[in-house]
Amino acid sequence: MNIAIVGAGLVGRVVALNLLRKPFSTTYFNSLANVFWREHTKVDKIEAGKIHIGKNIECFDWVFDARGLGAKEYFTDLRGVRGELIWIESNDITITRPTRLLHPRYKLYIVPRKNGCEGIELEHCKECKIAQTANSKRYIVGASEIESEDNSPISVRSSLELLSALFTIHPSFGEARVVNIETNCRPAFKDNLPRIENQKGLTRINGLYRHGYLLAPAIVEEALNRGIREFN
Ligand SMILES: Cc1cc2nc3c(=O)[nH]c(=O)nc-3n(C[C@H](O)[C@H](O)[C@H](O)COP(=O)(O)OP(=O)(O)OC[C@H]3O[C@@H](n4cnc5c(N)ncnc54)[C@H](O)[C@@H]3O)c2cc1C
Repeated sequence: MNIAIVGAGLVGRVVALNLLRKPFSTTYFNSLANVFWREHTKVDKIEAGKIHIGKNIECFDWVFDARGLGAKEYFTDLRGVRGELIWIESNDITITRPTRLLHPRYKLYIVPRKNGCEGIELEHCKECKIAQTANSKRYIVGASEIESEDNSPISVRSSLELLSALFTIHPSFGEARVVNIETNCRPAFKDNLPRIENQKGLTRINGLYRHGYLLAPAIVEEALNRGIREFN
């Protein structure tokens, strides 16, 4: 079967893992004869079994639209919600579970992360440019939630709020090192609930808002069961 997965973000990766049974990484995909991995290719429009790239139309048995905010051409009620988060490293603090903080403005959390590259074998990952100090523990602190489609770097206000909240957990976080800062926009609908649309030859998944990591496996499984698996 000839399949196109458009959007290599979270949902696209989970679809690939479910359908192709392949771990997601650019170098790994490039090494597979039956996977054609195309970077920096903007898809302008998607229809059942078809993707439009500029003036070219390419045909597939099934297309997955996982473009997040890039799918506004179809989902006109989609909006972006800006989020900012900070990666830190510390030798002094050991937190082993995700920890929720009470904060007047944001739903803040500290999440301990594994060493290396988020579960991708390092030999397959060319993308991680964030070095890690040997034996240090890595955490992410996030995330702000701002009604704006602004992808610019983190603001002073958010930096202060995220890092102050972290510091109140334990003063030893004062000696932690900031190793990376991320800002991005979450795709969301008005009700902040995810949406799955299926028709023969096309599955669209969008609106995972601030819970994509948690929801994507279950949402993708449901989308596949009600879509490509039911029709074939
Ligand atoms: C700061 C921050 C912190 C977060 N923290 C958490 C968390 O702790 N837990 C949690 O569960 N979720 C979290 N989320 C939410 C999660 O990241 C999103 O729900 C998730 O990324 C949505 O996945 P997606 O695949 O639908 O969209 P995206 O991840 O946005 O992927 C869309 C992809 O499509 C590509 N694309 C767009 N347009 C086109 C086009 N025209 N042609 C080709 N490709 C295109 C984009 O380049 C992108 O790669 C966080 C989000 C942010 C911003």
